[in-house]
Amino acid sequence: MAEAVEIRPHAIMIPAPYQGHINPLVDLALNLASRGFTITFVNTEFVHHLLSKSHKNTGTDEIDLFSEARKSGLDIRYTTFSDGFPLDFDRDANVVEFWEYLIQDFVVHVDELMGNIVKSCDYKPFLITDTFSSWHAEIANKYNMVNVSFWTQPALVFALDYHLDLLRKNGHFPLPKEKSEDTVTYVPGVELISTKDFMTFLHETDITVEHKLVFRAFEQIENTDFILLNTVQELEPETVPALNQILPTYAIGPVMNFSTRKIKISTTLTQQTECTEWLQSKPPASVLYISFGSFVHSTKQVIQEIAHGLLLADINFIWVVRTNVVIDSDATDVLPSGFEQKVKEKGLIVPWCDQDSVLSNPGIGGFLTHCGWNSVLEGAWHGVPMLCYPLLHDQPTNRKLVVDDWKIGINLCDGESVTRDEVAGKIKRLMCGEFREEIKKVSSVMRNSLDDGGSSEKNLERFVVDLRAKIHKVILNFALVFLMKLVVWKFFESTLRI
Ligand code: UDP
Repeated sequence: MAEAVEIRPHAIMIPAPYQGHINPLVDLALNLASRGFTITFVNTEFVHHLLSKSHKNTGTDEIDLFSEARKSGLDIRYTTFSDGFPLDFDRDANVVEFWEYLIQDFVVHVDELMGNIVKSCDYKPFLITDTFSSWHAEIANKYNMVNVSFWTQPALVFALDYHLDLLRKNGHFPLPKEKSEDTVTYVPGVELISTKDFMTFLHETDITVEHKLVFRAFEQIENTDFILLNTVQELEPETVPALNQILPTYAIGPVMNFSTRKIKISTTLTQQTECTEWLQSKPPASVLYISFGSFVHSTKQVIQEIAHGLLLADINFIWVVRTNVVIDSDATDVLPSGFEQKVKEKGLIVPWCDQDSVLSNPGIGGFLTHCGWNSVLEGAWHGVPMLCYPLLHDQPTNRKLVVDDWKIGINLCDGESVTRDEVAGKIKRLMCGEFREEIKKVSSVMRNSLDDGGSSEKNLERFVVDLRAKIHKVILNFALVFLMKLVVWKFFESTLRI
């Protein structure tokens, strides 16, 4: 008797073209490949260009992101495609135009890419894309592919986005000024949230490109076969089960560089400055690490207050001051004059670093963060308490989890504005060890979730089983339709011959 053929699932994985979205998707690719999947990972040419540029010091002109992974036996292919703009188009300065294009027209490029990949495959691949990819349902439908969506923010943000109609019905979206401190208790899976912790787009009355992105993402949700959440069930104990009841969600986080440490792949889009040697000269838990992530902008005034706060606190620090951290201002301009000279002994100012490596260093004792979700997960994983200064998007909502729910951090400022005295006071409080016990607990919950038998590991296994079953069903349906067509054709052929 013929043995049942075990199909090797083939995932086509396409991240949203941003650092905070690429990092976890690469990690997921490695994880799935190590479970026997074939992966075709696709970056835009622009992202590939940045990756290659930032790895120049490794002696390569064109980076092949997964060459190490392949050497260790994983089947990961890597390719690129155009996002519709020339390489020298400034996607940061023209973010609205760029995002509008991603929402409206990008699908044409994906379609062309997919046609080529599908043609060259032995059997049908399936799709894993960012939930914010506005084209995934259309493409999956056209190519009859199983469609997996990867959510790179907390379940709490997903729940609020998913229940936008409910927020609208209750007069909380768009959020009027007089309701800016309401307490919301009616969203399934969200016991209580203040409207001041809402994602920033919920406060806007005009429709922005971010609204369009969220609306499109959640229109497609019902046409998604599986939704992977980069969070940990135990850390969002009401929200994750509530989502599980209405959607095929799987909390598989934290999906980060270190979950598959055996193969270390650098996904940095900006050249990193080495910090290890400097850190090694500092006592344990004595250094504050400061970063506002890869994307959002701050103001010169805030940066200067933070700088003065650091001087007043007289603390060791590593500060990532991105070249574009303040729009229309050069990085060299944004710090107070003479600041770098004054902090020569205590401070290291860099344009970009290997954040994972910095946060894992025993010298680090606190993290002043904009609360991007990857940064929150990375800080918590490494047991580093956080000083929260959320700026945009999901960051205020992520702050609620860090400060109010998990109690592993504090706010940088309690009022509207950032002042140097408050900054200095908050830094001192953060670094004094008050959060040591709580952060240890959260870190070990995260680590346990990835161990054998841990919740995220079990959820990922469950996803793999469910996915295989779904792929088999799709193949079976395809074979049945083919067979039926053949029978009908044969019937007509023989009838006509008679
Ligand atoms: N990051 C880094 N070096 C830096 C600053 C940030 O490698 O100097 C990484 C960080 O580890 C994280 C990502 O960039 O994985 C930023 O993602 P996050 O969600 O925190 O913020 P976003 O950039 O999306 O606002």
